[in-house]
Amino acid sequence: MNSPLASGVPFPEMAHHELAKPQLRQNLKHATHTIRDKRARVVAELPNWEELRSAGSAIKEEVLANLPTLLEQFEKAATEAGAVVHWARDAAEACAVVADLVKATGATEVVKVKSMATQEIALNEALEAAGITATETDLAELIVQLADDKPSHILVPAIHYNRTEIRDIFRSRMAGAPDGLSDEPRDLAEAARLHLRRKFLRARVGISGANFAIAETGTLVVVESEGNGRMCLTLPETLISVVGIEKLLPRFCDLGTFLRLLPRSSTGERMNPYTSMWTGVTPGDGPSAVHIVLVDNGRTATLADPVGRQALHCIRCSACLNVCPVYERVGGHAYGSVYPGPIGAILSPQLTGIGANRSLPFASTLCGACYDACPVKINIPEVLVHLRQSSVDKRSAERTAFRTLAWIMRDRKRYALALRAARRGSRLLGRDKLKHLPWPGNRWTASRDAPLPTAPTFREWWSRERS
Ligand code: SF4
Repeated sequence: MNSPLASGVPFPEMAHHELAKPQLRQNLKHATHTIRDKRARVVAELPNWEELRSAGSAIKEEVLANLPTLLEQFEKAATEAGAVVHWARDAAEACAVVADLVKATGATEVVKVKSMATQEIALNEALEAAGITATETDLAELIVQLADDKPSHILVPAIHYNRTEIRDIFRSRMAGAPDGLSDEPRDLAEAARLHLRRKFLRARVGISGANFAIAETGTLVVVESEGNGRMCLTLPETLISVVGIEKLLPRFCDLGTFLRLLPRSSTGERMNPYTSMWTGVTPGDGPSAVHIVLVDNGRTATLADPVGRQALHCIRCSACLNVCPVYERVGGHAYGSVYPGPIGAILSPQLTGIGANRSLPFASTLCGACYDACPVKINIPEVLVHLRQSSVDKRSAERTAFRTLAWIMRDRKRYALALRAARRGSRLLGRDKLKHLPWPGNRWTASRDAPLPTAPTFREWWSRERS
């Protein structure tokens, strides 16, 4: 199985494939423009929006600068409150920990709150291999799961479907879907609600991620819009939360900044409809066993890059996706990674190492709209350019070509000699540009011409004019 962080198929090929779907483009344009406009309206209401962005960015910088200390502080506080903290270096370790915890309860079914971290580690697939059925309870995630598809947006995973397509998925795949189900949003939501209600009441284990983990108190925070999260977090006897190590906030009071930044940036709302917080175990209230799996999975390596580490500030609001002209046309599947859009283009290659996602940093026009929209001021274009550089540095043919060029251009005589040789070559060929170079130059001429020096060269013209 491919890692959800890398499909192995380069972005240009995936994009080419997705561009051939006019209905997809229509759905994407409608959805991204609707969310984008809502966001712009509610952001404009706040006179101190820029100060809030700066505050959010500063808190995230503080977290990354003190990550080991804050992680230990979080572990201590959560443990004292009755939670059990587990550590996972990578996806395989995290999945094994969760599968063992579920098996220990004797349960064969779990209900899940929408979580990017569990998608990143392919938890559903790992649980299935262990004989455990995981049901997504977020409406959009449920649609994607029933369709046996992949999410295509961080916040709106089923953004690529319109309501008629969703009705067809429910009719054909959802147990107990009413005969003659219409494509009215109200009817679709009611069908999903009844389907999920049965699962909630049966589930003994709930699985979540966390939007924030507060080091000071050991508290986890989940924000959501449908109330399904609240059901998963409170009804089952056992709750397992899979949390990326960068999700920390130092203090409880830091939460205020992010609870203002996140809903406005993500769904264009002033407040999240449901904000759930829990600190360990409270007897007689909610789950009697709480496990927290802290996952690295490439984050420590990302932290080591002074430019790229700012990708770890991300609060997964998806504002950068909704303003990206590339995302709007190709959709999330083209990125071949669980994190699509501009954030995916900088986060996925760093989590996996640039080799597995080499093409993603090039999936951008560098227009800068993502930087302007990001609530925590991640300079996505800067990281894109930085990763492009790393990607090129690692390609030996390209690196050798550019090193040779640099060697030639460093010396005036060498440069003049090379120009003369190239011009002689162009005379022999009888043309002023090459349309097809042999390998490895054919990758260059696949999408552009290679011009040959004109006669006379500028240098020759200059010395003739001045002599
Ligand atoms: S990079 Fe910024 S805008 Fe994009 S999802 Fe993350 S926080 Fe939101």
